Amino acid sequence: MASIAIIGAGIAGLSALQLLAAQGHEVTVFDKSRGSGGRMATKKVDDASWDMGAQFIRAHSAAFTAQLQQWQQYGWVEQWNITPWIADAKGLHPSPDTVLRFVGTPRMTGLSRSLLSPAAVFCAATRITKAQRENGRHWWLDSDEGKTFGPFDALLISTPPQQAVPLLSAAPILAAQCEQVGMLPCWTLLLTLPEAISSAPDAVFVKQGPLGWIARNNSKPGRDKKEAWVIQASHEWSREHADAPREQVQQELLHAFFATLQQPPQQPDTLWLHRWLYAIPANSLTLGALTDTRQQLAVCGDWCHSPSLEGAWLSGQQAAQALLTTLPDMAEQPL
Ligand SMILES: Cc1cc2nc3c(=O)[nH]c(=O)nc-3n(C[C@H](O)[C@H](O)[C@H](O)COP(=O)(O)OP(=O)(O)OC[C@H]3O[C@@H](n4cnc5c(N)ncnc54)[C@H](O)[C@@H]3O)c2cc1C
Repeated sequence: MASIAIIGAGIAGLSALQLLAAQGHEVTVFDKSRGSGGRMATKKVDDASWDMGAQFIRAHSAAFTAQLQQWQQYGWVEQWNITPWIADAKGLHPSPDTVLRFVGTPRMTGLSRSLLSPAAVFCAATRITKAQRENGRHWWLDSDEGKTFGPFDALLISTPPQQAVPLLSAAPILAAQCEQVGMLPCWTLLLTLPEAISSAPDAVFVKQGPLGWIARNNSKPGRDKKEAWVIQASHEWSREHADAPREQVQQELLHAFFATLQQPPQQPDTLWLHRWLYAIPANSLTLGALTDTRQQLAVCGDWCHSPSLEGAWLSGQQAAQALLTTLPDMAEQPL
């Protein structure tokens, strides 16, 4: 049995965890946030909650389709039966797509919590600032609070590329590959309303103006009943307004929300504005994962594969498989 550290408890890291723990390895997971899920986040303010990052899960590959079916059987995901609409120059009209969409239950982070359970240890609120390889045999990790963790036989990093670079001083070629990937921001406004907007569709892909996506969070299975909306700006608009004053961003998104749904404005009960700095890769590496098998090191995430939960999950699988091929060799090394 090897001891393995995973930095990042998003879907890529948790996908790798599942595979590594199933092979009997002892896995410790670190995340700088207080919980798991990464960009599959849930935000809670008082008695309201929203899926603040990823909105739904869909599958293209046979492997992820099978995985989703298994999660559905476990009750970790449920189908979200919606027909999304499109808002474009022609107005507001239903999308012709027939995509099956799933969501984590009772919220997106419900799925990440279930996936985290095989971790031997979960070190939450622990930002790793340094990863060092000692004598070509073991990894040691330092946190921003001055703690040191280790020794680990293998290391898997599943953070966004900008956050992976400082951890890759032992693997400059991998660090240089990370630097090739840019990430796009996304301004996200969460709100609850006193009056339900009954005449509006539950989800809209917005193709013009500041917005990219609108969803009625309480239309998803298992959510609170309170009328809660997620409003995401488009990546282009978010990039152009990345450093705009928060008050201005909030006003523009709120105005665009009511205008897009063709509804009279209401004063929200609760408002929460979040800027995702690293929301989605502008370009993915399409390598699946970055590996340095000589050092028992792998790097993964959506940006190594494709920009979605599925891409991140597949990347985590690939990174874990690469590490697994190195672990039997380690047992043969002289002490
Ligand atoms: C607003 C938004 C909407 C989206 N909508 C969808 C959607 O509807 N469907 C879809 O499929 N995808 C969607 N995506 C994309 C999807 O969320 C991502 O592709 C996926 O979650 C990426 O997972 P990951 O594990 O690669 O990275 P992340 O989820 O970013 O996980 C990385 C983790 O590493 C941690 N971390 C970083 N640095 C450190 C450090 N130094 N020490 C410790 N921990 C660290 C972070 O806290 C984070 O938890 C959306 C993304 C955003 C932001």
